[in-house]
Amino acid sequence: MTIATELPAFDPSSTSTPPADAAGRGTDGHAAPITMLNPDFPFSYDHYLAHPDGLGSVPPELYGTEVAVIGAGVSGLVTAYELMKLGLRPVVYEADQIGGRLRTAAFPAAPGVVADLGGMRFPVSGKAFYHYVDLLGLQTQDFPNPLAEATSSTVIELAGKKHYAEKPGDLPLFFREVADAWKAAVNDGAKFVQMQDAIKARDMARIKDLWNELLPLMDEQTFYGFIAASDSFKKAGFAHREAFGQVGFGTGGWDTDFPNSILEILRVVYTDADDQHRFIRGGAQRLPEALWQHAPSDMAHWPAGTSLSSLHSGSPRGAVGKISRDQDGNLRIRERWGREASYPAVVSTCQSWLLSTRIHTEEALFPAELWTAMERSHYMQSSKTFVMVDRPFWKDIDPETGNDILSMTLTDRLNRATYLLDNGPDQPAVILLSYTWNDDALKWLALDADERVELMLHSLEQIYPGVDIAGHIVGQPITVSWEADPNFMGAFKANLPGHYRYQQRLFTHFKQDRLPESQRGIFLAGDDVSFTAGWAEGAVTTGLNAVWGVVKHLGGASAPGNPGPGDLLDEFGPISLD
Ligand code: FAD
Repeated sequence: MTIATELPAFDPSSTSTPPADAAGRGTDGHAAPITMLNPDFPFSYDHYLAHPDGLGSVPPELYGTEVAVIGAGVSGLVTAYELMKLGLRPVVYEADQIGGRLRTAAFPAAPGVVADLGGMRFPVSGKAFYHYVDLLGLQTQDFPNPLAEATSSTVIELAGKKHYAEKPGDLPLFFREVADAWKAAVNDGAKFVQMQDAIKARDMARIKDLWNELLPLMDEQTFYGFIAASDSFKKAGFAHREAFGQVGFGTGGWDTDFPNSILEILRVVYTDADDQHRFIRGGAQRLPEALWQHAPSDMAHWPAGTSLSSLHSGSPRGAVGKISRDQDGNLRIRERWGREASYPAVVSTCQSWLLSTRIHTEEALFPAELWTAMERSHYMQSSKTFVMVDRPFWKDIDPETGNDILSMTLTDRLNRATYLLDNGPDQPAVILLSYTWNDDALKWLALDADERVELMLHSLEQIYPGVDIAGHIVGQPITVSWEADPNFMGAFKANLPGHYRYQQRLFTHFKQDRLPESQRGIFLAGDDVSFTAGWAEGAVTTGLNAVWGVVKHLGGASAPGNPGPGDLLDEFGPISLD
């Protein structure tokens, strides 16, 4: 639960979308749920995926045609999986491991105990993401966010003052005022309630009307500028703004996003992306791995039992080193170690900076404005450090206070956020000692894992004097700084003010009918091309855009009763600013 929004009526065991009528009511009479219906392009990808007519077709003479897919993260594998189902032959290239930023690491001393290094908590409003989670039979569970029902207790420690809460109402009134100020700011300044109503009703026209009016006003505004200019926070004063940066909404700790465009934040809060999170049992990487292994039953062309793994004899091809165009118009891919192949279409799902920094990509393949958009992309830094402990000892009760001895913690100290991840009583458990962003993440960059852990334990000792966390640690810590990994160079994109035009170019590039022939056939996907970077939903949905683009490019079409994203883009897609 967030402290800034009310908990909607919702059954957490269900992630499926009940059918909604035009008034946004489900057939059971309850309000339809919020979905990640992005206001820039409120296309219902979940309905598109669930439609019995499927995602379209290619002419049978094209069955078996190879299409290159760069990257075996969730975006690349959704793309490859759907292309395979249509009878094409995806050829996946991967520089490192299957999973990308849904990477899960196991503690060597107890390989069943895992840590999600990238994406770890997935909002139930991300219906396209859960389409694949459900299809592949993965089990999910409530994620222990601050003040969530799955969280036994939360400590907020600000300027040395500690507040213990088992539910939001346990916090001092001050935090209620902070939450109310935020609610008022998004209602007054960004039509929050109207937008959520339109999203619940899946009223595309209304969503677009509301958003298109706000967009030009908001594109030049930072997140911080937005709250500082709001009447509610002006009235409340600096201390409330400061605390909002610490506890924020949903996952808390949003002040490292303060320089980003307010549009990015509005997309998150309108769609409940920061609320009602679940994690995948066994680790997030299970999803891309299952996509790789799964043999769909309803495929064109391929015999039963065919999977991405079987089409690749068990392993993707290697890292891509070069992309160019042959004389005959095909796209040529050279792997870093020399093997070459050419394709009528290529989908690139790696972070787009890599197309200029790590892959020698022929400049003429993209319009100059698109290169500008890629180069101007702004990536967040992020660092996580995990330790394994012998058992979930934080459930022990302090006899003096009656409180848990250790809680999910939000603090303004170095650690910023500490999460407690339970694997059951008397089982080894995991503490995510510190999860940080941007400047906070850069403080860890130059330190090794042990140095990081020492400092993090020092911070926690100040908050929980006398609690011997170190005495419970077993095995080696696991740490990651995504900006230090050459296959990513950052955690994920977050647009700065004035970046809307770049984002619009990147997102709409999959519809190529206005491009010259010489720039067609190469598609961008992945969460940094989406309007919701940092959420796996954006990786999935841009993969589906690329599938639509490839089908169209090769001479195929959408199913007549199930228009695809490119069919509705002109009508409902992101508007152009001047
Ligand atoms: P990637 O996963 O980056 O896949 C691209 C792939 O391309 C990688 O596997 C990479 O190795 C590969 N590659 C790179 N260069 C080459 C090359 N030259 N040749 C071949 N392959 C190459 N999302 C959520 O929904 N919830 C969360 O809680 C959440 N938290 C996050 C926290 C962190 C710290 C991070 C980093 C991400 C988080 N995300 C979260 C975002 C989520 O992880 C991403 O949206 C998603 O994993 C992106 O998938 P992708 O396929 O677009 O890109």
